[in-house]
Amino acid sequence: MGSIANNLQEVKRRLSSAALAAGHDPAAVRLLAVSKTFGADAVRQAHAAGQRAFGENYVQEALAKIAALADLRPGIEWHLIGPLQSNKTQAVAEAFDWVHSVDRLKIAQRLAERRPAWLPPLQLCLQINISGEASKSGVLPEEAAALAQAVAALPRERVALRGLMAIPEPAGDFDAQRLPHRALRQLLATVNARGLALDTLSMGMSADLEAAIAEGATIVRVGTAIFGGRS
Ligand SMILES: *Cc1c(COP(=O)(O)O)cnc(C)c1O
Repeated sequence: MGSIANNLQEVKRRLSSAALAAGHDPAAVRLLAVSKTFGADAVRQAHAAGQRAFGENYVQEALAKIAALADLRPGIEWHLIGPLQSNKTQAVAEAFDWVHSVDRLKIAQRLAERRPAWLPPLQLCLQINISGEASKSGVLPEEAAALAQAVAALPRERVALRGLMAIPEPAGDFDAQRLPHRALRQLLATVNARGLALDTLSMGMSADLEAAIAEGATIVRVGTAIFGGRS
């Protein structure tokens, strides 16, 4: 692995060439740098190299990092991409800009109740269990439209439903990697056909970002390729 700055450049090169190959504007695909398990120093290095949006999985770890990097606000954006329990919704509603992992109405309701009025609306994605494994978190695809309609009906000055997120099973080759991403894109179309206008597909990680972009990802969440391997 090179330096964080070099790794970021390489990931952005991959992102751009995948977007161009798919006929998409590279600027329409946002890079979320997943900094879980790495310290505030690593985030600061990535920020100094121009990266603005960071993804975290664990609420306690993230809150400590967000506090340590308070001097970078408002030029830094924090996205929760890991599981969220209802007893953490207060802290999350106060500290984050996005939550990608909403998988039930109760969580979205609590986030809406607790989002401070002086902040912009918390941006939400529904996490979809796209590979259908019993053990994984996320709502089942057939339940997505009803949940999306319920979340979209929450007060818009507090929460804004933006789209869908998935963490597919790892797959070997490009064509196999595309399938779950295609399913998520089609599900977004199904949900939007019920009268919503969701614009976000949060999909693709270090190993499959090209396949996700080929299927229309608007946010790719990349950790290892930027910060290195996690122990
Ligand atoms: C860790 C994680 C990522 C980043 O995965 P890499 O393979 O390190 O790029 C993306 N999304 C979620 C939800 C994660 O937990």
